[in-house]
Amino acid sequence: MKKGIFIAISGPSGVGKNTIADILTERGYGIYSVSATTRKMRDGEKDGKDYFFISTEEFEKKIANQEFIEYTKYNNNYYGTLKSFVQDRLDNGENVIAVIEIQGGMNIKRIFPEAVLIFIMPPSFEELEQRLRKRNTDSEEDILKRMEIARMEIDYRTKYDYTVVNNVLEDTVEEIVDIIKKEIEKRDI
Ligand code: 5GP
Repeated sequence: MKKGIFIAISGPSGVGKNTIADILTERGYGIYSVSATTRKMRDGEKDGKDYFFISTEEFEKKIANQEFIEYTKYNNNYYGTLKSFVQDRLDNGENVIAVIEIQGGMNIKRIFPEAVLIFIMPPSFEELEQRLRKRNTDSEEDILKRMEIARMEIDYRTKYDYTVVNNVLEDTVEEIVDIIKKEIEKRDI
């Protein structure tokens, strides 16, 4: 059985990564990798769907038990990709789409050299800040911190296999679908 492709999508907070991943999974291009996190649940989020929301103590137990493919600390919270969630699906030939920050992206490249890394860029910083504010889910302090992290993250785009600017959502999705198709073809040869 041919293995699935691990697709890691990164990009600054507010760039639209999750919306893109949702559309890709709805259209059958992969299964969304549900990470574990210690961050508080936002309004509208569901445990087991958006994340597995767990305590710091539980997270650290999972680190000790080596239950993560990779994990990181981002804005004072832990986030990690679960082996139990990902490995079986890849082995079953399903693509897994993981939305992770850049440190995770770099670790994935090391662990799964055959993974496809896609970096999503905002059309501009101004647009990014506006999107974060419109989302209305984060405090002012959090928004400023996320903008600061975004400036640093964008420098990492050159280390990704592909960079896509999220200007018009449907075009962005099309571009990523083309990338996935191309990668599948490559593996068929
Ligand atoms: P948020 O709090 O906005 O949901 O996520 C913060 C950042 O953590 C985002 O860039 C998100 O993509 C990233 N993230 C989510 N899950 C994981 C994970 O399992 N590993 C890593 N490295 N980053 C993650």
